[in-house]
Amino acid sequence: MKDTKWHVRAKALTPDGRAFIGGQRVDALSGATFDCISPIDTRVLTAVARCDQADVDVAVNSARLAFNDRRWAGLAPAERKRILIKFADLTLSYAEELALLETLDMGKPIANSLNMDVPAAANCLRWYGEAVDKIYDEIAPTSDASLALITREPVGVVAAIVPWNYPLLMAAWKIAPALAAGNSVILKPSEKSPLTALRLAEIAIEAGIPTGVFNVVPGYGNEAGSALATHMDVDCIGFTGSTAIGKKIMQYAGQSNLKRVWTELGGKSPNIVCADCPDLDNAVRAAIAGLYYNQGESCNAPSRLFVEASIKDKFLEKALAIIPEFAPGDPLDEKTVMGAIVDDTQLNTVLAYIESGKQEGALLLAGGMRTRTESGGYYIAPTLFDNVQHTMKIAREEIFGPVLSVFSFTRLEDAIQEANATPYGLQAGIWTADINKAHQAARALRAGTVHVNQYAEDDITVPFGGYKQSGNGRDKSLHAFDKYTELKTTWIKLG
Ligand code: NAD
Repeated sequence: MKDTKWHVRAKALTPDGRAFIGGQRVDALSGATFDCISPIDTRVLTAVARCDQADVDVAVNSARLAFNDRRWAGLAPAERKRILIKFADLTLSYAEELALLETLDMGKPIANSLNMDVPAAANCLRWYGEAVDKIYDEIAPTSDASLALITREPVGVVAAIVPWNYPLLMAAWKIAPALAAGNSVILKPSEKSPLTALRLAEIAIEAGIPTGVFNVVPGYGNEAGSALATHMDVDCIGFTGSTAIGKKIMQYAGQSNLKRVWTELGGKSPNIVCADCPDLDNAVRAAIAGLYYNQGESCNAPSRLFVEASIKDKFLEKALAIIPEFAPGDPLDEKTVMGAIVDDTQLNTVLAYIESGKQEGALLLAGGMRTRTESGGYYIAPTLFDNVQHTMKIAREEIFGPVLSVFSFTRLEDAIQEANATPYGLQAGIWTADINKAHQAARALRAGTVHVNQYAEDDITVPFGGYKQSGNGRDKSLHAFDKYTELKTTWIKLG
């Protein structure tokens, strides 16, 4: 049955796909557009401006001008705070519209967009706004003959290039600290999910962010994205996306102006459940919900599940009993917990991984196929493979879909060694009642975040980012300011 409210509102929605440059909506200079297609039923939502080098040049010039005349950077931090808090309030006031755009654009359930993504994005804007007038600079402990001031300054023009899995939230993680620090920002949303970013730019203007300070250039990665990453007048890139494109962005920086590059990349996170885990039901639910949340399209999804051999049968029995709760449903129904895969490319990628799991001899215990084909959209049943070997493709590569691989172990040190045997290092989990074991494992796991006896805690106050090829630098927390500020030393001779 259709959830009338959201279906009716979806029909009435007329999203604006034009770019946002220099404080206004504009078409791409070439006039080119691309169709924005909803994965929930493949309806065309709108035509989106296909920005390229020429549009990026205009956006960068506009951002540079705004930075140089200090219309934003020159405001007192308390004033930037006031405007960012208003930006957060307004974002919340448009929560239903933004949530609907997000769900239609990338397929996640409306309840998630409304209750998680939009409030978290607004909270991020508010948190950095509130932080910015509470951070002091430093005076170095030098001799009496001089004074050395160590101050933070905005880097200048920041480009944020973001993915499609949490379009609004990933954008907020970049733009909030970058704007709070006084930078001008150009946001390049994914071509698969540009709508909330474009709407956010209008909300920023309504909140009082001066024109030119926040621009949004939608378009393809190899056009608008690479134009930003190779631009000689972009000072910094905050990139979230795949490891393969992250490597390219670093090359572009080396080939152009050595702009600062900060990357939040892929993951293949291990989740290790020991036989002495304090609450098996909780561990099962966390493992299943953590992986299938957002259709498995989360960088930190615990996609490699290690279960101690003595409890594996019991664990799997419990897991298989709750997996049906995660069957995909209509994303516009508030009760749906799993929505649509973002597009046909990603659908086929995930299905190909499932096929390779079967071919390589893993044991398919749940899912493994496309569902809800009658909707016209892209849905995959929650999938679980047992008896996965570490050499298999599904064990090694990031799938970015609802596919869980299960391994068993008898010695924790072996599980940790396998857990670390990956180019990625975003997150990891360990479940045990033994505090020593938990601490030792947390130290041994090479990941930016380690979860102990849970896999869901998250907060704007803690850094988020990866070891190894999961990226460098951190989003969230005060540490994010490190990415968007330069440190300046000023020596003053005394007497
Ligand atoms: P992607 O790398 O394909 O694209 C990310 C962004 O880069 C998009 O805006 C895209 O248009 C742009 N892009 C693509 N090619 C480009 C190029 N040549 N030059 C400049 N820009 C280019 O990633 P995706 O498929 O959108 O997102 C999924 C990936 O993002 C996964 O690997 C996931 O793990 C990762 N991710 C990481 C985090 C994190 O915090 N570590 C968070 C969310 C997603």
